[in-house]
Parts: sequence; C-alpha cells; structure tokens
Amino acid sequence: MPMFESITEKISNIFKNLRGLGKLSEQNIAEALGEIRSALLSADVNFSVANNFIQRVKTQCLGQVVIQNVTPEQQFTKIIFDELVKLLGDESAPELSSKRPLKILLVGLHGSGKTTTAVKLAKFLKTKANFSRPLTIGCDIYRPAATDQLETLSQQTAIDCYVDHNCKNVIEIAHSGVRYAEKNGCDLLLFDTAGRLQIDENLIREIRDISAKIQPDEVFLVADSALGQEAANVARSFHAAVPLTGIILTKLDGDSRGGAALSMKEVTGVPIRYVGTGEKIESLEIFHPSRIAQRILGMGDVVSLVEKAQEQIDEKQAKELEKKAKKGKFDMNDFLQQLQSIQKMGPMESLIKHFPGMHNIEIDPKTGDKMKHTQAIICSMTPKERSRPEIIDGSRRLRIAKGCGLSVQKVNMLLKNFKQIQVMMKKMKNSRANLASLLGM
Ligand code: GDP
Ligand code: MG
Repeated sequence: MPMFESITEKISNIFKNLRGLGKLSEQNIAEALGEIRSALLSADVNFSVANNFIQRVKTQCLGQVVIQNVTPEQQFTKIIFDELVKLLGDESAPELSSKRPLKILLVGLHGSGKTTTAVKLAKFLKTKANFSRPLTIGCDIYRPAATDQLETLSQQTAIDCYVDHNCKNVIEIAHSGVRYAEKNGCDLLLFDTAGRLQIDENLIREIRDISAKIQPDEVFLVADSALGQEAANVARSFHAAVPLTGIILTKLDGDSRGGAALSMKEVTGVPIRYVGTGEKIESLEIFHPSRIAQRILGMGDVVSLVEKAQEQIDEKQAKELEKKAKKGKFDMNDFLQQLQSIQKMGPMESLIKHFPGMHNIEIDPKTGDKMKHTQAIICSMTPKERSRPEIIDGSRRLRIAKGCGLSVQKVNMLLKNFKQIQVMMKKMKNSRANLASLLGM
C-alpha cells in the first residue's frame, strides 16, 4: 500500500532529527509536534482533526511517568503511536449486528466503490462469517449499466442478486428485494444504492426513504480514500442524513495520502470497518488501526520496545505484590520497599521535568513530603511491627511518633490508610491498579 508513504517518510524524518539531538527539551518537542501537525495536514488530514490530535499528544506527554530502559524520545514515539491508533478507531470495531437476516445499506458518492464493495462484502462475509446465503439488491436505477454491473459481478462471484430492470421506483425495488430474500431464505442483504457526484438533497432524501422502508441493521458509508480534505465533510453529511454504523474505505491500493482514513473516524465517531485494497472481489480486508498506525510511524520496533519495558517493570513488581496480596501477606515491609522503589526513580518534581513539555505542570508539592513522612513512620517501627501492624497499640503509636518526629495523628492516619490498602490489594486482580493506588498515597 503506497497510500501512507509520504506521511510515513515525513514522520520518520521528524523522529530521526529528534534522535540526533540527544536530549529532548520542551522546545524541540514543540517543534516536532509542529512538524507532525504539518505532516498530517499535507496528508490531507482534516485541519481540526490534526489540531486535536496534537493537543492530545501534548496532554499525554504531561501525564507520562518515566520508564527506565527507554529514552524519552522512544516514549514520545509510543505516545504518538497510541494516539494514532485511537484516531484510527482503536483495535476493535464492534461486531456486526447479529440479526438475521442482516440488512446492510451501502451509501456513498458516485464512483466510491459501492457496487464493487457490495459484492466484495457478500463474498467476504459468506467466506469468513456465518452467512450462508447473501443477496445483493440493486437500488441504483439511474444508470442502466449500474444494475447490470451489480448483476454481472454477483453472478461471477456466485452471489444471489435481486434487480428489477423495469421498475422506476427505488423504494419499491428495495422492498421487493426484502421479500425476495424472505422467500429464498437469504440471511444477508446488501443494498447497493445510487451515488451522486456531490451530496445533494435528492440523494439524501432517497437514502433516507430507503432506510425508512427497509430498516437496515447496518449503514456503511463507502468512501474513496482519495477524498482528501473532503472526506470529513462527506462523512459528516452522510452521517447526518442516515446514522452510519460503519465506514468502508476503498482504493487503499491507490496513491492517496491517507488523510481520509485519519479524519473520518474522528469527525463521525463511526468506526472504519473494512478497507478495499484492489479491484478484485477478494480485495477486501478488515481494518486494523494499529497496523496502519505502525505503518505510518514506520517504527513498530520502538513501540514494542516501550511496551516491553513497561511490562517488565509492572510485571516484576506486580507479581511479587500479587503473591503477597493474595495470601493477605502484604505488610509494612513490602509497603516500604514499594515506596523506596518509587523514590529510586527520583523525586517527583525532577522526574517530571525530564518529560517533554512538562516544566510547568503542577504537581501537588505535598506528594513528595507525604511519601517521605510515610517512610519515616515505617522506619520507626520495629520489624515485628512492620510485619504485623495490627499489634501497634496506643503506646507503640506514641513511641513511633516520637521516633520519627511526626504527630500521633499522622501515624494513626498511615495505619488506617494501610488497612485500606491491604483490603484493596486483596480485592484487586489488576496489578497495575495496585501500583497506582500506592503511588496515589
Ligand atoms: P460506485 O459508483 O460507488 O458503485 O463505484 P463502483 O463499485 O462502480 O466502483 C468504481 C470504480 O472503482 C470501479 O472501477 C471499481 O473497480 C473501482 N474500485 C472499487 N473499489 C476499489 C478498490 O478498493 N481498489 C481499486 N483499485 N479500485 C476499486
Ligand atoms: Mg454503483
């Protein structure tokens, strides 16, 4: 797919330049973001979509925690990647409706690939999903060749096709198609509609009427990926006319720049479900946001590196914690160890300063103090007290408070919090959440 080549090239240049700098500063991050924004724009990504994207990346950078073994630049890449995936629609487009027969209405501009896609989808779902008898229904009566095209393609693919060359009423044809399907036990109905060069009132009215008549379970917008800047408007207008449940991007094998793919999900909230990758009937694929994002960034290696590093930290710590938590044996010693390992990473303030664009982020100045206090209190406990905090009575509390130079209330508070943590840890299966709750102390 040459489609994302130019944007891929631009973005990988941006990262190359970043790498050359050795160190990330707020300024070169800002510059990189500016360049990424213009790379998106020149790939025909919708203007506000590009702006929002950059904004989200910035916010993400602010929320990051330093991970050892990866450079900030690699982490930055990961953020861009994750946001790209989100922009493209996250991994899992919802399942097709489970209704049978399933009625899918295909809408879109003239030449976008509706007729071809109707047959492609019939074949695809027959082969890969649980449909035994798909039916294509020709609702484009304006060009005589259109129904012939649907009929021929369907025949070649051994798919049933309903057309009526004599009827001039689209709604009637659609309705007869449904009846034909009922009589013949078809479990998948694909309505191929007429397009226009541009969205106009007649087109909108017609697809609304058809939709009202047949009550489709899915309405897919078939869109040419070469639409460019127009993509956002087209998607929005169709979505306003008939609520779309999916988008099929066609001609991904062409040399368009990818902007349509990157804009349409964002402006409509409707997932891209399939992509057309060629003229052949077999050339239809499920859309995978992360694959596209990896291609755009051209750096799947960095992404997996960061993921691995994240997992390693989480896993090692979390496994031990989980073991103890399960046995109800998470005690003050573990807690102390946990606090120390967090502090090993450095004081909060300086940790955060290492991060792109974060010099002016506000962190609660008391967070660091709280952690220090907590440690001081635990350090004043005897090993026996640490492993069995429940023995800490009034006089022990007083002694601990004196030992660490903090008030008895603070000691009480910690003991109370710790009890909650223990309860929480027993309940929580998710190790990540454990760590987070400790950090939030
Ligand atoms: P419609 O007017 O929306 O029904 O569009 P058609 O289905 O007639 O398709 C218009 C043209 O685009 C035809 O020549 C198709 O072969 C071609 N086409 C459709 N999908 C794809 C695709 O994914 N890749 C390529 N290369 N061509 C496609
Ligand atoms: Mg057509």
